[in-house]
Amino acid sequence: MTELRLYNTLMREKRTFESIEPKRVRIYTCGPTVYSRSHLGNMRPYVFADLLRRTLLSRGYEVRHVINVTDVGHLAGDTDDGEDKMELAARTTGLSAWDIAEKWTAVFKADLVKLNVLEPHVWCKATDHIPDQIALIQTLEEKGFTYRSADTIYFDTSKDPNYGELARLNLDAQQTQERIEGAAHKRNPADFALWKLTPGEVRRQMEWESPWGVGFPGWHLECSAMSSRYLGVPFDIHTGGIDHVPIHHTNEIAQSEAAFGVRPWVNTWMHNGWLMFESGKMAKSAGTTVTLEDIEADGIEPLSMRYLLLNAHYRQQMNYSGDAISGAQSAHRRLLRHVEEYARSDESEGAEHVEPYRRRFADAIADDLNSPQALAVVWEMVRATELGAVEKSGLLAEFDRVLALGLDGAKIEAPDLDEDVKRLIAEREQARADRDFARADEIRDELLADGIVLEDNPSGTRWRRA
Ligand code: AMP
Ligand code: ZN
Repeated sequence: MTELRLYNTLMREKRTFESIEPKRVRIYTCGPTVYSRSHLGNMRPYVFADLLRRTLLSRGYEVRHVINVTDVGHLAGDTDDGEDKMELAARTTGLSAWDIAEKWTAVFKADLVKLNVLEPHVWCKATDHIPDQIALIQTLEEKGFTYRSADTIYFDTSKDPNYGELARLNLDAQQTQERIEGAAHKRNPADFALWKLTPGEVRRQMEWESPWGVGFPGWHLECSAMSSRYLGVPFDIHTGGIDHVPIHHTNEIAQSEAAFGVRPWVNTWMHNGWLMFESGKMAKSAGTTVTLEDIEADGIEPLSMRYLLLNAHYRQQMNYSGDAISGAQSAHRRLLRHVEEYARSDESEGAEHVEPYRRRFADAIADDLNSPQALAVVWEMVRATELGAVEKSGLLAEFDRVLALGLDGAKIEAPDLDEDVKRLIAEREQARADRDFARADEIRDELLADGIVLEDNPSGTRWRRA
């Protein structure tokens, strides 16, 4: 098998992937901030992480996947300024911050199911892990990485000689900028909040006691605390949107390497590019978004959205438009029609030509998850004249273990069979399983008399009209 090569943002190059433990991979994916509905751009990181997970599974790895839910601490400005997004949403909607979080988390999870994203082994919320986060700050405090201003416990980035490595930050330029702008409460411009204290006159909906006073954790802390709880330290792969590189992931690395005393804390950092409108950013904060619900209302299948996303390489910035999604829908539907057609045929031909397609598909995916290239192989295979329906159907089912676009013909329901015929087919399958071949043959003949031909092949029994 071709070796799996993944682009690691840390080195800015593709590297051959090697898991820390043999044949086991641990993945952490930064989750959504649940103050409003997730949009199509927000789906991209999870479809990408799912492609990664399915690729590893197809290569025989056991995968453990964790996704968090940010329900506290993410401020309107990523650099520790502005109001907490949850509290802001509570103030503007009249709902409680807790209810808002619950509502949008449920919608987000339902969207991922529609997109065939495998459920993570662990979903974890920041508000369920406050003691873990406090313990992490205490460790950092004991090791001398923190200081306190009037209302914040900060991480002191000047204590970390490797700070900013992931983003290749120019700290000298930041220092100069700071002298121009002046930020009296921080020692260094890159320093970030570990704990924010609630000012005396304020009452937040989400706040907790801590050794430093009542308040709430800084946003970056939750991912270090929860990943180490559920995946241990170090772990294999951390994923997220490209916007997380300069601040969120940079700060996760700084506090984790300082607290856990391990470097690198994560071996492979992978980031997806942005889903844009031609006119600009698709972002909750910009108020310019399209959701899965919106496109479903327009008659688009969620899996056609998955097709659109897979048709671009995950690192590429891509544009969303009505034309793009309807183009993806018609291509996806054409593919599904082929799947149905193959499922009803027993034409078998060219078994010796199967392997090259299998290999080219695997090679494309092994090259940093090149799904557009893999889809090109799918289309070439569909158009191939040297392969029969049985071979094509078998290959599509294999490819679908990675693509998850509903191309597994074995799962196709026979919509135009009446209930009696379906029951007889099921009964015959049972008879075959029980090795009662006499009964199986009897049912086959009975159905044939009704004009239904049954074909048994290694992937199951198929039917067609005589
Ligand atoms: P948020 O809910 O804003 O914390 O974002 C959840 C995830 O979606 C993060 O990994 C972001 O980087 C990612 N993200 C947000 N907007 C987009 C977009 N337009 N395209 C791709 N990824 C995005
Ligand atoms: Zn994170």
